[in-house]
Amino acid sequence: MYDMIIIGAGPAGISMATEARSAGIDAAKILILERAAEHSFSIKKYYPDNKLVTANYKGFEAVCTGVMYLVDSSKHETISYLDRTIAANGVTVRYNETVYRIDKDAAAQRFTITTDRGAYDTVVVVIAIGILGKPNKPEYRIPASLKDRVVFDVTTTAIAGGDVLVVGGGDSASEYCQYLVQKGNRVTLSYRKSEFSRMNDINRQSLLALEERAQVQVLRGSTITALADSGGRPAVTFAEPGAPPRTFDHVVYALGGTTPRNFLKTIGIEFNGEEPEVREAHETTVPGMFLIGDLSAGQKGGSIIWAFNSANTAMRRICKQYLQCSVDPAAAQGTGR
Ligand SMILES: Cc1cc2nc3c(=O)[nH]c(=O)nc-3n(C[C@H](O)[C@H](O)[C@H](O)COP(=O)(O)OP(=O)(O)OC[C@H]3O[C@@H](n4cnc5c(N)ncnc54)[C@H](O)[C@@H]3O)c2cc1C
Repeated sequence: MYDMIIIGAGPAGISMATEARSAGIDAAKILILERAAEHSFSIKKYYPDNKLVTANYKGFEAVCTGVMYLVDSSKHETISYLDRTIAANGVTVRYNETVYRIDKDAAAQRFTITTDRGAYDTVVVVIAIGILGKPNKPEYRIPASLKDRVVFDVTTTAIAGGDVLVVGGGDSASEYCQYLVQKGNRVTLSYRKSEFSRMNDINRQSLLALEERAQVQVLRGSTITALADSGGRPAVTFAEPGAPPRTFDHVVYALGGTTPRNFLKTIGIEFNGEEPEVREAHETTVPGMFLIGDLSAGQKGGSIIWAFNSANTAMRRICKQYLQCSVDPAAAQGTGR
């Protein structure tokens, strides 16, 4: 019988285990279940290698209320910090393990978690699986023959020295443009709005500087209506009158991710419209089941510090309501150490 099982070993899941250890829970009483072969899978897959990981991502205030912290760092430093934290916790992470169902014995305040490799009992379950497992896709069809040319990240396929279209208007879109220019590509960015209001200042300035130097062509107010296979390359049709169809070597979508609705519904989480219903301190309508990280950030989207802080908030409630433990307010990192 575990005290806490955490599903997902990204920033939220790792900080949840850290909060639990800091609050006095034995390492042997905590288990992390991760679907991928390694932790922080989303960061490893979606962040360009030279990316600056910003503490105030999406304009979140960079104040850390719990035991984990982030200052502006490289991708490598961020992953290495998460690596070291897992090792220091002494908590077991079971990789390549997928959760199928969660049953609750309400009278005993016990969950049974069934995976493809076993079943585990726990008092509290924390879901920290993020939203990046399923990237948002465009509404038009993407021909199967283009699967290596039309991608949703810049780490899976090496993209260098070609004509590349990036689609999106958030921080990821700008970071992909910066990365692809450095790799010697001729980059075009298509964004459906006329202003880049969702980017942080650094990414907006970097993108505008690339545009000024003609290293990125920015198509504002641009709507793509179709994608076709033209001799093995993606041919893109635009809705705007006078915008001719164009062919690229690669198309990279940076459209964010979606809440894994089916999975959450299967394990008993209720929805309020598009968002999972979350009550005080990220607890769901199922007592003892918590949703943290990107999953609890709502429409505005999450960040690493949001993930860290949500674990701290959930831990306070877990100690108050379910486990013998206490969160030390003095452990809060503030703006980092
Ligand atoms: C391109 C890009 C750039 C970004 N840059 C920044 C930045 O500079 N600064 C910043 O603060 N934030 C940044 N973010 C956002 C940040 O990465 C997320 O907010 C953060 O990773 C959320 O953490 P999480 O633990 O909630 O989810 P994730 O990081 O997505 O981790 C979820 C983990 O759960 C695992 N998982 C998924 N499904 C299951 C399942 N069914 N069972 C078990 N495990 C599962 C995944 O494999 C993954 O390891 C960026 C995001 C993107 C896409």
